[in-house]
Amino acid sequence: MKILLRFRLPLCSIATLIVCSSTALPYALAAWELASPSTPQTSSSVSSTSFISSVSSSFTLPTLTYHYVESAQRASKRSVALITSPVIFEKQLLALQERGYKTIFVSAVPGHLVSSLHPSPAIALTFDDGYQDFYVNVFPLLKKYQAKATLYVVPAFIGKQGYLTQEELKDIVASGLVEIGAHTLHHKNLVRLSSTAAQKEIAGSKEELERDFGVTVTSFAYPFGAHTPRIEALVGEAGFTTAVTTQRGWDQSPESLLILKRIPGLAFVGTRKWKAIGDTAKEPSPATATSSSSSAAGKPLHRRLN
Ligand SMILES: [Zn+2]
Repeated sequence: MKILLRFRLPLCSIATLIVCSSTALPYALAAWELASPSTPQTSSSVSSTSFISSVSSSFTLPTLTYHYVESAQRASKRSVALITSPVIFEKQLLALQERGYKTIFVSAVPGHLVSSLHPSPAIALTFDDGYQDFYVNVFPLLKKYQAKATLYVVPAFIGKQGYLTQEELKDIVASGLVEIGAHTLHHKNLVRLSSTAAQKEIAGSKEELERDFGVTVTSFAYPFGAHTPRIEALVGEAGFTTAVTTQRGWDQSPESLLILKRIPGLAFVGTRKWKAIGDTAKEPSPATATSSSSSAAGKPLHRRLN
């Protein structure tokens, strides 16, 4: 059985790529979909795909990035490029479930790397900024599908209009399905700050979230995807063991857990392609699932983006 994760370049303008999107995203967003395998899928074949590849210098972990999960009509003033429809999101969860994917917390990655109990195939769902639509549209679906997610929160945004409240976050954390990660105190572009100021933003967000929610926070997301070796060192010194970027890809390095790659989890809002996916959720026929035939059986198939 073969799994193909296909990427398609959208038609939407890159001018709409703002907010958390990185300067490392100079091209348009990709939407993903899981192509239907041409042969029946079995649990044994799924488990043969590797979280840790046979090459010890890398492992495979798709880590999806989400921002807003809400209907496009309600977000006319926001960048449509950062919005995922709740309908699409549920289809994605269903597709992952049907194909045997196990959702994991980003913070669990170091442990999985030294454990023989790592799930396979694994995937991480990440949500940046702590928008309130997470509570309304995402949280119920995570509970429905028992999917885990990592939510990167900015303490200064908590309780502000459009963002999660303390009470909502406590409810979310209590579910055990969502872990909180840090995203600086004020969503600052860290590379523009002095080391002292950056350290305050990084360590301060960890301390504040741990104090307010009674959890240990060990995963970090760089605002705007902006990071340098100097900033990465500060993140490590603050006690974080994982950090996510906006660099695309899912071949991860065990030596680079503070610069984990991610993949946009959104779909093409407002485009014909989005309409086709949203309306029918059609999966490509085996004939269109190119490149699958050339890969070894049991190995997750993918096309590198960078
Ligand atoms: Zn952000």
